[in-house]
Amino acid sequence: MSSLPDNLFDLVIRNVRLEEDGALADIAVRNGLIAAIESNFRCDAVLSFDGKGNFAFGGFVDTHVHLDKACILDRCSICEGTLTEAVRETARAKPGFTEHDVYERAARVVEKAISHGTVRMRTFVEIDPRAGFRSFEAIKRIRADYAFAIDIQICAFAQDGLTNEPETLDMLDAALAGSADLIGGCPYTDPDPEAHIAKIFELAVKHDVAVDFHLDFSLDPNKTDLPAVIAATKHHGWQGRVSIGHVTNLSALPQAIVIKIANNLSEAGIALTILPATDLFLNGCGHDHLVPRGVAPAHILAAHGVVTSIATNNVLNPFTPYGDASLMRMANLYANVAQLSRDAEIADVFDMVARSAARQLDVPHGLVVGSEATIILVDAKGPRAAVREIGRVVAGWKSGRQSFHNGNPKIHRPSATQSVGHPSLPPKSNRR
Ligand SMILES: [Zn+2]
Repeated sequence: MSSLPDNLFDLVIRNVRLEEDGALADIAVRNGLIAAIESNFRCDAVLSFDGKGNFAFGGFVDTHVHLDKACILDRCSICEGTLTEAVRETARAKPGFTEHDVYERAARVVEKAISHGTVRMRTFVEIDPRAGFRSFEAIKRIRADYAFAIDIQICAFAQDGLTNEPETLDMLDAALAGSADLIGGCPYTDPDPEAHIAKIFELAVKHDVAVDFHLDFSLDPNKTDLPAVIAATKHHGWQGRVSIGHVTNLSALPQAIVIKIANNLSEAGIALTILPATDLFLNGCGHDHLVPRGVAPAHILAAHGVVTSIATNNVLNPFTPYGDASLMRMANLYANVAQLSRDAEIADVFDMVARSAARQLDVPHGLVVGSEATIILVDAKGPRAAVREIGRVVAGWKSGRQSFHNGNPKIHRPSATQSVGHPSLPPKSNRR
């Protein structure tokens, strides 16, 4: 705690907008908390920052990232571009992961995420006989080393099955007894999906933690583990603590059925994450025209009460051979793919990488007096403009301390005396 006089603040961020086309306001910060939000706030502060009319908000929340297997394109081959191949190739690479290697690759992604305005993240970490605890140890260090800018939740994750590999269950149990924050499962890679779901819930109940499943990653609505997850959630009273990711087979259903499923999810308190980059890349590989998009209609589920988020998933690996950990870009991608245009729809999309995503992770979000001064500035006149234009993230603060600045873009116009194409050439009269 600082010992500042009552009329002195640690920081004031001036001239920012808090809503679309809103009036300019100043945010004053004291002891890591927002102390005041007012227009033309008259005060003295140790530090002052001119927000230049940018949009200020509580930062992006990435609900689903795999830091441990990011940036491994150089050690995998992609021939089919299918989910089966991605799982197989990554499992093949995993025994070669060292703690140092995982740390270096994860740090690369986390630093990109920070500079793109992400302040909270849930990362899955595979813990099994191939990965051992090496990835887990590396990501725990990442969580500690980057806590100055981003809060990271670690989800101990069974990517390659449980019933076929019982030792994984004991390893996940040990990780949860250590410092993993929650448990994650993947029923579609297990020979017995229902038993897999039951075992994941057993661990969740034992350690009193939230659950996050990779689920129904196909275009076949008849192949679904969703009813089992809904039943287990209700049976254990885990409403509000269960997330499901992908669920791409919802994209293969008529809207009337999607709405029925949305009502069931909402009633069971189950949140949905969609991962547009991966869902688009891995679905519909067998089609040579009219390729299905394979992205669940998150906006329809959100409109029917489901807590939804749009997240990164993978970066530069066989699941997603692209990526920059930018949620602004991902929100724009989803809006484009889902053909959304109305202001209310675009506002909902922004929520899915901000407020709604925070709700899913059960973490605070938003700029109000008394809340943590975690603030991100975007070069846009509001959240809708940010999604439409992929607004440039300018700068960020975590608990009142500046964590990054991306610099100001500058256009170098030719001066009146310079020739545009050859600025170094002397005037013609001086040439021989
Ligand atoms: Zn995932």
